[in-house]
Amino acid sequence: MSCKPTTVPPAEQVDIPALREKYRQERSIRVNSKGQAQYVRPVEDFAAVYEGDPHMPVLPRDPISEDLDVAVLGGGWGGVLAGQALRQAGVKNFRNIDHAGDFGGVWYWNRYPGLSCDNDAYCYLPLLEEMGFMPSKKFTDGFEIRNYCQSIARKYELYENALFHTLVTAMRWDESIKRYRISTDRGDEIRARFVVMANGLLNIPKLPGIPGIHEYKGKMFHTARWEYEYTGGSQENPVLDKLKDKRVAIIGTGATAVQAVPFLGKYAKQLYVLQRTASTVDERKNTPTDPEWVKTLKPGWQRERQLNFHRFAMEMPNVGEHDLICDIWTEINRNLSVQFNEHGWPTSPEDYMAKREVMDYQVMERLRARVDSIVQDKEAANILKPWYRYLCKRPASNDEFYPTFNLPNVKVIDVSKTKGVERMTEKGFVANGVEYEADCVIFASGFEVSSDLDRRWGFDIFEGREGKSIYDLWATEYRTLHGTMTRHFPNLFFNIGFIQGGFASSTTEMYKLYGKHSAWVIAEAQKRGIVTVEPSLEAQDKYVDHVRATAIDISAFSRECTPSYFNNEGEEIVTSKGEKKLRSYTGEAFGPGFYVFEAMLQEWRDKGNLEGLELSHE
Ligand code: NDP
Repeated sequence: MSCKPTTVPPAEQVDIPALREKYRQERSIRVNSKGQAQYVRPVEDFAAVYEGDPHMPVLPRDPISEDLDVAVLGGGWGGVLAGQALRQAGVKNFRNIDHAGDFGGVWYWNRYPGLSCDNDAYCYLPLLEEMGFMPSKKFTDGFEIRNYCQSIARKYELYENALFHTLVTAMRWDESIKRYRISTDRGDEIRARFVVMANGLLNIPKLPGIPGIHEYKGKMFHTARWEYEYTGGSQENPVLDKLKDKRVAIIGTGATAVQAVPFLGKYAKQLYVLQRTASTVDERKNTPTDPEWVKTLKPGWQRERQLNFHRFAMEMPNVGEHDLICDIWTEINRNLSVQFNEHGWPTSPEDYMAKREVMDYQVMERLRARVDSIVQDKEAANILKPWYRYLCKRPASNDEFYPTFNLPNVKVIDVSKTKGVERMTEKGFVANGVEYEADCVIFASGFEVSSDLDRRWGFDIFEGREGKSIYDLWATEYRTLHGTMTRHFPNLFFNIGFIQGGFASSTTEMYKLYGKHSAWVIAEAQKRGIVTVEPSLEAQDKYVDHVRATAIDISAFSRECTPSYFNNEGEEIVTSKGEKKLRSYTGEAFGPGFYVFEAMLQEWRDKGNLEGLELSHE
């Protein structure tokens, strides 16, 4: 399977300086000087948004007190793939701990109507060949992903030990027993020799701190805790019939809202879509998996496809390479590679970036024209057009999103001028000076992705050797060996991604690699009778220097983007050296790329001497 380039307006017809200026203006409307402080953690009045579980009852149980070889914090993709790798490496005494009621992570919590994967499922779902599984379609449904994730957990026997509905509240290294003491909201005291942090990126929902949010008396919930009891329907059958007499407002138009809005528009009596920044929404072209295509696949096909996806989405295709993915993520490079074949391939990274920038404007023009071609009301169409460079926000694809705005019961309201919804009242909300009544307000307002770590990880006490807090050590910068371990925290692995490691187009590829790497180190330590492993200061400094020396500087691009979690809402942090830096959700990515990173870790493991780690046998 490969595909043709898209039809975009010719470069000579695109007024790039004018667009650049328009992007700058739109950005300045949206930048909020409060930065991350504009959001609130769902605690106190909103505790149910985070602590409750609308999907299954939280049953009482007795606290556990135990010594454990490995605690894997998380049961989403990171945790399942860490567990799978530990199993493969022969490590036995471990458990996954998660505050969800089952495996699945984001796919456990998020069950909103229309939830499906925006990435090619043949790349995104890991271990397809090992599991003998094939997704039912290119962009597969959320419940299929959840079921598949759970089937991996079953196959690798992760259920036996899993501790669900258990929220970690503190973690401290105890030098006297050479273990982490993990406390939970269930009163557990788990003493783990090794800990794998697999707590994910989209684990903590956030709410906009809209003035008056506490006054609103109607129904409120976050999309990550969808309440079907209120809306009617179910994830598998999203007939939201209980909304037929309800006025509903949804706050946000990110990747989540794009998927949920068509269902709300179809069933609610009235739907208000409160938008601050428009998403790019292309056609979906979701096709069922073709059994004839499946028959053509040769062993190793998934990795080949993932490599192709990675090159087309994030790097540069090889000369003559065809795009196998053929969707929004690969469009720019697909179009460029056709141009390059005709007119010559770029002579330098700068040459490539310059050509890419032009194609970026062309593609964005195409996407804006798409809005006009579908949305009949001119004012609504204008509101829904995105004005920024491609990848400033996560691109979406959906065939029903724009047509929803042609329904008489649906209204999009631009709240960008007030940097978000102006105010909430007892009966509804105020936008642009007008009060609207709403029976229900749904927050599609995203997750804590690039905020301070304690906000993101959700527990206040996280201490290593000598009582050092990770939050203090990493307040302004990460310092790691291989993006997975850090000094002062023996036997601890960060399988989260985006912390000085390689950044893969499929996040699950990243989790798989971290899982394999951490499991290997743990298994080796066990085989060799090593009690603690910890990066030496020298090795860590050397790695950090290497990451920084080879980093690709995307700060100019990020600074020009509209604010979002991609660029820490445009908020700068000051490093220990006094430099101002934008914190990006890609943290400090390993510049030479994910697959170079993967090869580097493989080489390190092949050497077999645990180079750069201080080892203690007692
Ligand atoms: P996002 O953070 O992408 O979007 C949050 C939305 O809320 C934005 O539109 C934001 O506006 C808006 N918002 C925030 N505060 C206010 C306010 N005060 N007033 C009005 N609007 C406000 O969250 P999502 O849940 O949409 O997506 C998060 C991530 O989840 C995605 O980027 C993706 O990684 C993942 N996801 C993945 C899917 C998949 O297919 N695999 C599907 C869905 C989500 P603004 O943009 O102006 O900040």
